Amino acid sequence: LALTLAACGGGGAGTGTDSDGGGSSANPSEITVGVAMPTQTSERWIADGKNVQAGLEKAGYKVDLQYANDDIPTQAQQIDQMITKGDKLLIVAAIDGTALSSQLANAAAQGVKVISYDRLIRGSGDVDFYVSFDNYNVGVQQGTSVLMGLGLLNPDGSPGTATGPFNVELFAGSLDDNNAQFFWDGAIDTLQPFIDKGQIVVKSGQTKIDQAAILRWQQETAQKRMEDLLTSAYNDGSKVDGVLSPYDGISRGIITALQNAGYGGSGTPMPIISGQDAEIASVKLINDGVQYATVFKDTRKLADEAVKAASAMVEGKEPEANDTETYDNGVKVVPSFLLESEIVTKDNVKSALVDTGYYTQAEVDAGK
Ligand code: BGC
Repeated sequence: LALTLAACGGGGAGTGTDSDGGGSSANPSEITVGVAMPTQTSERWIADGKNVQAGLEKAGYKVDLQYANDDIPTQAQQIDQMITKGDKLLIVAAIDGTALSSQLANAAAQGVKVISYDRLIRGSGDVDFYVSFDNYNVGVQQGTSVLMGLGLLNPDGSPGTATGPFNVELFAGSLDDNNAQFFWDGAIDTLQPFIDKGQIVVKSGQTKIDQAAILRWQQETAQKRMEDLLTSAYNDGSKVDGVLSPYDGISRGIITALQNAGYGGSGTPMPIISGQDAEIASVKLINDGVQYATVFKDTRKLADEAVKAASAMVEGKEPEANDTETYDNGVKVVPSFLLESEIVTKDNVKSALVDTGYYTQAEVDAGK
C-alpha cells in the first residue's frame, strides 16, 4: 500500500490514481487541515497561524492548528495526532527540520500530503511542497542593511562614502532550521568582500556559523553571547560598530546587552543592527533609531500561498511552483513557491508596513 501511494505522490500531474478516489470532488467542509506551528513566543508565528487558519476556513476547510512551544517531541506528537485524527493534509513549520521523518512517512502511508511551511523539512522524501521566501536573498538583505547603515553602501547599491574599518560581530539563527544557513550564506557573501578589503573586521574572530548560531533563535541566548563578546573582544576600549542579526528577537537581545554596556548613551552610539520579521517591538526600535533595519516578510502572502497549495492538492492537482531547483532537502528537491522580502529602515516603515495594512500607525507608535 505504502509503495503504491509513494508512487502516486512522486508522479506527475493528473495521473488520476488518487488513493482516496476522486480527490477533485472532495468537499472542503469534510476535510480537516492540520497546521503545525513552532512557537508562540514570536509574533510572526502567531500571525502565520492566524492567517493560514483564516485562509483555509474561508476556502471551506476545517482547521486543526497546533503550537509546540519550540519543543521537538511536542511537535512530533502533535503531527502524529493530526494523522490519527484523520486530518487530510498537513502544513508544517518545523522546529527541527530533520526531526519529522517518521511522522511524514506515516503521513505518506495514510495518503496525507505535506506542505513544508517557511522552513524546509529535511531528510524526508515525503515533503510534497514548500512555501517560503527567497531565504538566501533575505540574508543578502540583512548583510546589505548592515553595509548601508555603516555607510559602506548607498541605498541604491553604489559604494558609500565611508571606508571603515568597522568592527562588526556576526550572529546566526538556529542550526536545526534550514533557513539559518541560507540567511547566513546570503549575508556572508554580501559582507565578505568588505571583510577581505579590511573595511569590516570581526574583532572576536568568530566568523563560523556554529560560533555565531543561536539555538531556537532565543533572545536571552543572543543577549548572553553579545555580553560575552563585549567582555572578551571589546575590553580594550574598542567599540562595536555593527552587528549582523538574523531575527528581530535576537536583535533585541543584542540591544539589551549593548545598552547594559553603555551603548546608545551619550558618546557611544548604538551599532548598526539588522533583523528580520518586522516584529512590532523592533519596528518601534527602528523608529526610535535603536535598531537600524529589519527584513519584512509579508506573512499574509505566505499564508495565501500555503492555502492555494493546499487547495490544489486537495483537488488532486500540482500546486504552482516558481522554483524547482533550490531546496534540496537531502532526499529530494522540493518544488517551492518563494516570495520576496524587503529591507525596512526608518525611511520606509510607513510605506512598507503601515500603507500595506500590516500594522496600523497606532501600533507602530506604541510598539505593540
Ligand atoms: C523564519 C524567520 C524567523 C526565524 C525565527 C525562520 O525560520 O524564516 O522568519 O525569524 O525562523 O523564528
